[in-house]
Amino acid sequence: MLQRNGSGAGRGFDLLVVNATMYTADPRFAVRREMAISGGRIAALGDAGELSGNASAARVVDAGGAFLYPGFMDPHCHFLNYGYMLQRACLFGCASWAEAVERLRAFGAANPGGSWILGRGWDQNLWPERAFPTRELLDAAFPDRPVLVTRIDGHAAIANAKALELAGIGPATRVEGGECLKACGRLTGVLVDNALDLARAAIPPIDGETKRRALLLAQRDCFAVGLTSVSDAGTELADLAAIESAQASGELKMRVYAMLRPSPENVERHISKGPRCGERLTLRSIKMFADGALGSRGSLLLEPYEDDPGNRGLQLESDAQIDAACALAKRHGYQMNVHCIGDAAVRLVLDLYERHLEPGNDRRWRIEHAQIVDPADLPRFKALGVIPSVQTSHATSDMGWARERLGPRIARAYIYRELLEQQGWLPNGSDFPIEGINPILGFYAAVARKDREGRPAGGFQMGSALTREQALRAMTIWAARANFEEESRGSLEPGKLADFVILDRDLMTAPEAELCDSRVLATYSGGELVHGGL
Ligand SMILES: [Zn+2]
Repeated sequence: MLQRNGSGAGRGFDLLVVNATMYTADPRFAVRREMAISGGRIAALGDAGELSGNASAARVVDAGGAFLYPGFMDPHCHFLNYGYMLQRACLFGCASWAEAVERLRAFGAANPGGSWILGRGWDQNLWPERAFPTRELLDAAFPDRPVLVTRIDGHAAIANAKALELAGIGPATRVEGGECLKACGRLTGVLVDNALDLARAAIPPIDGETKRRALLLAQRDCFAVGLTSVSDAGTELADLAAIESAQASGELKMRVYAMLRPSPENVERHISKGPRCGERLTLRSIKMFADGALGSRGSLLLEPYEDDPGNRGLQLESDAQIDAACALAKRHGYQMNVHCIGDAAVRLVLDLYERHLEPGNDRRWRIEHAQIVDPADLPRFKALGVIPSVQTSHATSDMGWARERLGPRIARAYIYRELLEQQGWLPNGSDFPIEGINPILGFYAAVARKDREGRPAGGFQMGSALTREQALRAMTIWAARANFEEESRGSLEPGKLADFVILDRDLMTAPEAELCDSRVLATYSGGELVHGGL
């Protein structure tokens, strides 16, 4: 069946893509073979020979039987932070704290001078002792140069003595919603949640050129894995200025849905002016944090941690702060996006949302992560029209240690199918750089619920797995819907932006163990080739 946009009928197209299996992700999940593009938008879709036999095009791309999908969307990631990370020390995958310090030593030698050494990615759950590091090795390696390196989840960091000194952090320092860990009365250097802000405040501001480079490096890597739209989960005013200037110059083609922090300057300059929805940049969301992360025991739980009796985690922003942001969002037509990992955080934010949301509303206020949900709260997502914005990779990244933190409550964690069934859809993102940037990893985690080595053999809590069709929709059309962007993107339909990706593999039928080996052959944004090529 030929589907054609009115404006494209009867004339030549800019681009015709033929000989592909095209998963449109439209309401019927139709599969097409040919697609025509004009003016950066999809003009028509058809079966084999239907377009190529009847129309002319300035350019024809023969996909050689490959597999084509709507441009992938990441509805929750940290685009700019990822770009910074590429310019800093990388501690991902370190098998011990000693190895992390060795990597920092090498980074310091390659980047001499007295400036701060920043880095990210250590994870004590990968180390034999599974305990937080302490700063002795760091102090010995860097007696005079400040070092601050964040844990993989961004919710904890370790600072050396020099960094603690510059940040004014001492054994008596107290922080609301955060902790400066101590052993025998002495600071270990580990800072959790809001305590990180003290150390960050001491770091000189990031200059415009570093921001610009971060955006372009992040864009390069996103296009390489088929991502054409990203939602940046926590954008400050200076970040937004950098995004706008790189988009205006034409260097940044990535479509960005910026979730704004409700800082006074963001409220004054943007939020109070109402939503701004463009093809490249959308501002209509406020990002807040109810709690921290499970790995650093910062997620807020209804009952204490199984491995830390007496500790229920941390509340990062107060009820009053979140409530005020809800009122602000409602007044100006913005969406709320609140980070909630623990079941107590989910409940407290649902309670706050309930004060503001009218029955049958379509405000699409979101709970980011919704990682642990008490059964009593599950139906409230549907009742209030709240969107659970999940990251399926967290299940398979955490499954090795989450039970230690949660005990039997693990059964109510990572319940993606159950959350999906509330309203029949949900968006799935990666939260990169906390997880890998490649959306196929999230697809695989959603359907297989195994690690990259295929463990556990039967999958982790498989009752909560998604089907392949659901997993594809969650990273395309449902991700668009979570941003109110379903009219312009997220599926291959006439009139939508011509954002698409061509893979060497059929995500609907490829053997599970091969999904993560999928290669991106080409990525197009607005009909323009931005990565690879056929
Ligand atoms: Zn995040």
